Amino acid sequence: MSIEGAEVVKEHQEYVLQPWAKQGGPVLPIKRAEGIYFWDYDDKRYADMSSLLVCANLGHSNPDIIEAICQQAHTMPFMAPDFASGPKSYLAKKLVELAGADTYSRVFFTCGGAESNENAIKIARLVTGRTKVFSAYLSYHGATLGAAHASGDWRRFAAEAGGASGFVHFFNPYPYRDGYTYGVDEEEETKKALAQLERQLHFEGTDRVAAILMESIVGANGVIIPPKGYMEGVRALCDTYGILLILDEVMAGFYRTGKPFTWQHFDLKPDIITFAKGVTSGYVPLGGVIVSKAIGEYFTEHVLPCGLTYSGHTLACAAGVAALNYYEQHHIAEHVQKVGAVLKQELQRLADVHPIVGEARAIGLFSSLELVKDKKTRTPLAAYGEANTILPAIKGELRKRGFSTFGRENNINICPPLIITEEELRTNLAILDDVLTWADQKYIQA
Ligand code: PLP
Repeated sequence: MSIEGAEVVKEHQEYVLQPWAKQGGPVLPIKRAEGIYFWDYDDKRYADMSSLLVCANLGHSNPDIIEAICQQAHTMPFMAPDFASGPKSYLAKKLVELAGADTYSRVFFTCGGAESNENAIKIARLVTGRTKVFSAYLSYHGATLGAAHASGDWRRFAAEAGGASGFVHFFNPYPYRDGYTYGVDEEEETKKALAQLERQLHFEGTDRVAAILMESIVGANGVIIPPKGYMEGVRALCDTYGILLILDEVMAGFYRTGKPFTWQHFDLKPDIITFAKGVTSGYVPLGGVIVSKAIGEYFTEHVLPCGLTYSGHTLACAAGVAALNYYEQHHIAEHVQKVGAVLKQELQRLADVHPIVGEARAIGLFSSLELVKDKKTRTPLAAYGEANTILPAIKGELRKRGFSTFGRENNINICPPLIITEEELRTNLAILDDVLTWADQKYIQA
C-alpha cells in the first residue's frame, strides 16, 4: 500500500472508534470517488454496488449537488433553526409535494435517520397521548436510544441494556422463511400475519399504542418485500384502533425502488414519513419527518417540543434541493424502473444457477440475494445472530475483484447508485456471478 494510504490506516486504527466493530481491525482507505466508483490510495477502483450505506443514490461527486453546496457555503453556510432560510423553506415545500400536498403539510428536519425516527416516535406519542410503539423484528431504525429500541434486529441489544419503555416488537412477514408459508400463497401469508398482529395489539392494549413504525420495505435485513395486501392491512388496523402509521423511508426513499417514496407502491398513506440518506445523496447529513395535515394542525395549537441545533442545516438543505431537482430533471424514476428490471432478471438467473443462492429479491435498484447451505431445505448459511464468517469472506472476495457492497446475516445486498447504466450493471453482475461460482465450490457440497 502507498505510504500515504498506510498512514491513513494507521491513524484510523489508533484514533477512530469504528462503528459496529472491535477496534484496530483492518480498514480500507479511500481517496476519491466519482460516478458509481471510488478509488483507494493505490488507485484501485471499486464499483460502489451498495451506494455506500444505500445513501449515495446519485453516485459520487455529482456536479449539481457540489455546486449547490459551494454556492451555499459562500453565501451562508449555516443559519440557526429559529430563522427561515431559502434552502430550508424550498426543501420543505418540495418534500411535502413529493409525498403529496393533499395529505402532508410540514417537515421537521433532523441530521439523519435515527434522529428522524426518534422525533417521529415523540410526535406520535404527543399527538395520541399514548406511549407504546409497535415495530417489526425484521427492521432497523437507527442506533440512538429510542431508534435502537424500535429496531428489530440484534443491533438493539446494546441499547436495551440501559432501557427505554413502551417498545413492542412483532413478526412482520418473511415469505421465504415463515414456516407456514411454504407452498402457501401470498394472501394466506398476509391474512395470518395481520391476524397475529391484531391479536398482539389487543394483548398490549390497543388504546395504549401510539404508533406502528415500519420500514416501507425492509432494507438492511435483506430487502424483504411484504406480501400483497399486508401493508394496506397494517394501515387498516391503525385506522381501526386510532394508531398512527409511521413509515421509515430512510433507506428505501428517494427513488430507490422507482418511486419518490417506496410506500407509494402500496395503496395507503402513512401518517408520518421519516427520511434521510438519499435526500442529499449522502453528501451532507440530513434527515427529517414529514407529517400529515392533521398532525401539522395539532402543532399549530400545541408547541412542538422537538429541536436540534442543526435542524434544517442550510448547507444540507441546499444539497437536498439540488438532489431533488436532479432526480426530477434526469428522470431517475424511469431510469430505475428500466435498469431495475435488468437487475431483477439477472439476480433471478444467479439464483437459478448457483446452489448457494436461496432466493433473489428485487424492486427497482433495491435488491438482495439470500444465501443458503441447502436450497431445498432453505437452511441458512449461519443461524440468526450467530458469528458468520462466510458472508464477510464472500464480500472480501467481491471487493478483491473491485465490487464493493454490504450485507448482513445471510444476505448480500445489491443497491447501486441510481445513475448506474445497464452496461455498468451487467459488467459488475458478471463479477458477482464469478464470486458466487467461487462460493459454490468453497462452501456448498456438490
Ligand atoms: N432507518 C433505516 C431503514 C435505515 O436503514 C437506517 C440506517 O441504515 C436508519 C434508519 C438509521 O439512519 P442513520 O444511520 O442515518 O441514523
